[in-house]
Parts: sequence; structure tokens; C-alpha cells
Amino acid sequence: MFLRNVFMQFSENPMLNKAAQQYGLKLGAQHVVAGTNLEEVVATIQSLNASGIEATIDHLGEFVTTEQEATQAKEAILEVIHAITSHDLQAHISLKLSQLGLDIDIDLCYDNVREIVELAYEHNIFINVDMENYDRAQATFDIVKELHKVFPNVGTVIQSYLHRAKDDIEDLKDFRLRLVKGAYKEDASVAYQRKLDIDIQLLELIEYHLLHGQFTSIATHDHNIIEHVKRFVEEHHIPREQFEFQMLYGFRTDLQQALVTEGYRVCAYVPFGKDWYGYFMRRLAERPQNISLVTKQVFTK
Ligand code: FAD
Repeated sequence: MFLRNVFMQFSENPMLNKAAQQYGLKLGAQHVVAGTNLEEVVATIQSLNASGIEATIDHLGEFVTTEQEATQAKEAILEVIHAITSHDLQAHISLKLSQLGLDIDIDLCYDNVREIVELAYEHNIFINVDMENYDRAQATFDIVKELHKVFPNVGTVIQSYLHRAKDDIEDLKDFRLRLVKGAYKEDASVAYQRKLDIDIQLLELIEYHLLHGQFTSIATHDHNIIEHVKRFVEEHHIPREQFEFQMLYGFRTDLQQALVTEGYRVCAYVPFGKDWYGYFMRRLAERPQNISLVTKQVFTK
């Protein structure tokens, strides 16, 4: 818990984030971040695609506080969409609304994300709106629902640690959804704190969405959840085209490849960009064992 809090605080520090931007990927971040520019991420995805793994691309962006920064983030994502098309990548987009101005002005954010979703729609590319902390959840759902009325190529994420998750999945049952445990530190008044409660609710959400017939991204590194899903889809004759396993780029790569070999759809969440620092610190907070990424780097120099 102590390490988790330390890494969370590091991730929220704009000064450290700014300092890290001056450098290329450091501290072992290159194992989990696919580069700082578009060229590097395209090469990474070509190699993932060659091994049977699709990608969801996240152009990292942290601490967006001005309209100009939000517009730059939008432009960068539009470029990624063009790159997916021109390189014929098996890939879609993941983005965060805070990056596109959610904390500045909700209308600005809506206009930015709408432009992205519209271009992606023209290119038949899916846009996943990642779920951030609880304070942003309702606004995120509202924007995604509004967009979905016009653009079916947009979906979002349900976090199983939230008490409200079952109401949300009922509300969004006709959307393509990513189902996760939840990555932020939330208060007990809104979120389960015990791993067992979070795991049970995740399985219930997964089963509900799979049975409803919508495309489901099961985003976890937890082999127990994955094994449960494999048994469940078998028992209920759910076609393999209706779901995928998602894992973060660089994590449990053996398991990702094994699932491909077994004939499952696998999609890696591939982050890239100069703003790698906050993402990297959150991964360390989530699983302090990942500190071995850092120590290996330091000791093998
Ligand atoms: P955990 O509960 O962390 O781990 C369960 C068990 O799995 C561990 O005890 C261990 O036995 C095994 N395990 C886990 N990781 C490893 C590893 N690296 N190596 C070996 N064994 C391991 N969260 C959000 O809040 N919003 C989002 O939009 C969001 N999107 C995500 C997208 C993807 C593709 C993924 C994978 C996660 C996303 N998350 C998101 C994060 C998610 O909510 C969890 O915080 C994170 O995935 C950790 O939970 P877990 O299910 O992977 O397993």
C-alpha cells in the first residue's frame, strides 16, 4: 500500500512529468511504452499484428490545462487515425477525455472528441473512451452516450470496483464495452475495496455483456478471470468473434501469445508519446512487482 501511494503521487506530479518529457523513455518505461513518436508506434504495431495481436493505441497526454493543449491532443489523435489507415494496421484508438479538455470546458471536450469519432467513423475505426477517476465518470458516460446516438463506432469502459457498475452496464448494454477492475484510488462510499468483491463483480459484468451479444473486451492480466471466461464462452457457445482479451503492451506477453495460439482474439493496449511518465508511474502503483522493470534497467547498465 505504501509503494502504491508513492507511485500514485509521483504520477500526479506535473513537475516530474515535465522533466521526463525532456528525455526519451527511461527507467525501463520502454518495455511498456511503444516509443515517443508515431513512427515508433507504427513499427511496434506492425510487429504485434504480425504475431496475431491487434492493438488499441493511446497517444499519452497528461495535465491538459489549456484549450491549446487539448486541441494539440486532438490533432495528434487525428494523425494516429490517418496512420492506422495508411499503414493498414489492425488497430483502434483509446483516448481519455481529460486529454481533450474535459476539465477545462465540457463543450470544448465534446467538440474535440466528436471530430475524432467522426473521422474514425469514416475510416471504420473504433474509438474507446477510457474511464478515468470517479469524478469524471458521469460526464464521460454522458458524452459517450450522446456520440453513440450518431456514431456506433464509439464505446467506453465499465470499472467493476464501482458500486454503480451494474446500472451502467444495463444502461450501455448495446455498446461495445471494455470491462476492467478499475485503476484509480476511490473512496469506499463509491467503490469496493476488497479484491474478492471487485473480481466477483467483474465476472458478473463480463457474463452479462457476453450473454447480451455485444462485443466485449475483457481487459485483465488476471489468469483466473481469463480461465473463467474461456470456460463460460465454451459453455454458452459464444462465438470468438464476439470478444477479445485485452492486456497492456509489454505485460504478460507469454500469456498474450498463448491465447493467440489457442485461437482467441487478443488486443494489446499500446501507449506512446512524450507524456510516458504518468502512465508508467500508474503501472508501478498498480503492481509494485513491476518495479523489477526499473531495477533491471538500473542494474543492467
Ligand atoms: P490484478 O488484480 O492486478 O492481478 C490479479 C492477478 O493476476 C495477480 O494477483 C497476479 O497473479 C496476476 N497478474 C496481474 N498482473 C500480472 C503481471 N504483470 N504479471 C504476472 N501476473 C500478473 N482501468 C481503468 O480504470 N480505466 C480504464 O480505461 C482501463 N483500461 C484498461 C485497459 C487494459 C487493456 C487493461 C489491461 C487494463 C485497463 N485498466 C483500466 C486497468 C484495470 O482497471 C486494472 O487496474 C489493471 O488491469 C490491474 O488489474 P488486473 O485485472 O490486470 O489484475
